[in-house]
Amino acid sequence: MPTPITVIGAGLAGSECAFQLARLGHEVVLREQKPQKRSPAHHSNAFAELVCSNSLRSDNPESAIGMLHAELRRVGSVVLEAADANRVPAGDALAVEREGFSAHITRALSGGGRVSIVPGEVTEVPEGDVVFATGPLTSEALTTALARFTGEKLYFYDAIAPIVAGDSIDRAIAFRASRWGKGDGDDYLNLPLSKDEYLRFVNELRSGQKVTPHAFEEPKYFEGCLPIEVMAERGEQVLAFGPMKPVGLTDPRTGRWPHAVVQLRMEDRAGTAWNLVGFQTRLTWPEQKRIFGMLPGLANAEWLRMGQIHRNTFLDSPRLLSRELSLLAEPRLFFAGQITGVEGYVESTACGYLTALAVHARRTGAPFAPPPATTALGALYRHVTGEAHPPGAPYQPTNVVFALFPPVPGRLNKGQKRQAYAARSRVDFDAWAVSAPHPVRPAVEPPTAAAHAVAG
Ligand SMILES: Cc1cc2nc3c(=O)[nH]c(=O)nc-3n(C[C@H](O)[C@H](O)[C@H](O)COP(=O)(O)OP(=O)(O)OC[C@H]3O[C@@H](n4cnc5c(N)ncnc54)[C@H](O)[C@@H]3O)c2cc1C
Repeated sequence: MPTPITVIGAGLAGSECAFQLARLGHEVVLREQKPQKRSPAHHSNAFAELVCSNSLRSDNPESAIGMLHAELRRVGSVVLEAADANRVPAGDALAVEREGFSAHITRALSGGGRVSIVPGEVTEVPEGDVVFATGPLTSEALTTALARFTGEKLYFYDAIAPIVAGDSIDRAIAFRASRWGKGDGDDYLNLPLSKDEYLRFVNELRSGQKVTPHAFEEPKYFEGCLPIEVMAERGEQVLAFGPMKPVGLTDPRTGRWPHAVVQLRMEDRAGTAWNLVGFQTRLTWPEQKRIFGMLPGLANAEWLRMGQIHRNTFLDSPRLLSRELSLLAEPRLFFAGQITGVEGYVESTACGYLTALAVHARRTGAPFAPPPATTALGALYRHVTGEAHPPGAPYQPTNVVFALFPPVPGRLNKGQKRQAYAARSRVDFDAWAVSAPHPVRPAVEPPTAAAHAVAG
């Protein structure tokens, strides 16, 4: 009897990976630290917990993420099955009722089949074939144990912007407009600041109390996603030329651009929640309430979520992993999900599926043949293996985007390009499906929330 495959982490990637491995005939031990231990972002005891938004993003089959949805449906993804079964209306987005979604996946894995569930934190690297699907918040003990195999630290920091209740924003001060009238022309709420207000705000940001990282954690940020106070520390006018730049935003009351602007973007279609664009921060929560409450229009703000910094644990996959998604230095150790440097619920799920194919190939001696680079699954694989990036560029996590695909030839406008990517991927996916190690469903139109409500 071959030894079971250990999958660590029953999040999006680990759940999908364990489900697919069992379906391919393998015995799996799924080890999950919940309920004994939870990361700061996890709250429920269920598997495949959605830690933040309940949206799996656009289901439009001509978007990169919509293509990924379609392909995952075709390969029998349990995560997409759960999403479709628990869909709630959200325009063209695939949004889900989160408890039902996680319960569906937990049930699918807890049925007493080939998956044995072992609760409790894993603190050392287990024997045998192991899939690490422990996500961006991999527990510290395991991160340390893993570093002994990779020879380097495995984390950096992501920063999250605060969200404010729409009805607590002073509309006598905030004005609706998009920069240069783009989009619908009034997609954003804008808080105008005079020069004095701006300088006072910058000073408060600089002197405000920040959350201190643990001694062993040395913050490393993406340049494109710096905490607002870090930008303020770089120079008095850095914010006015960055996330608070006023150009193209005319205040209707003055007919002029203000000195600086805070832009708020809708979090939901009804406009009940608004995100402070570019205001990711590591200020303490009381300091955020005090300092952001000084902004014009936010004196009575009701905060729905405060800004946060969260650790994002990921490998420099192109350098450390083989094409079979296992460590070059220790080939029995495979990786799945956000820890490989994909970003997002669906991308993590997709990576869980790809890693299951890789482990299956290793176990059966068959060649590992992921879907081709022109498909959404193949494009993500291309990202993790480093083929989608210019040589020498630092490896950074990403969602699935068309930039990861080989370009479509010809001079096409944006809409034509999307159609071309989608059409090419369908043809190539069909060709790959013939040799897939499991049955692949024919392409279908995604179910709509309305259709689901009628059926349900
Ligand atoms: C705060 C935050 C907000 C996010 N918001 C979004 C969002 O809105 N939309 C989006 O698309 N993506 C979001 N992401 C990004 C990311 O795609 C999700 O975190 C996604 O859940 C990653 O999937 P995963 O399976 O790789 O990891 P996870 O879903 O986090 O699953 C990892 C699992 O491993 C377990 N685990 C960790 N360490 C151990 C251990 N030592 N032993 C046993 N079990 C362990 C955890 O308990 C968890 O269940 C967010 C991430 C964070 C941190």
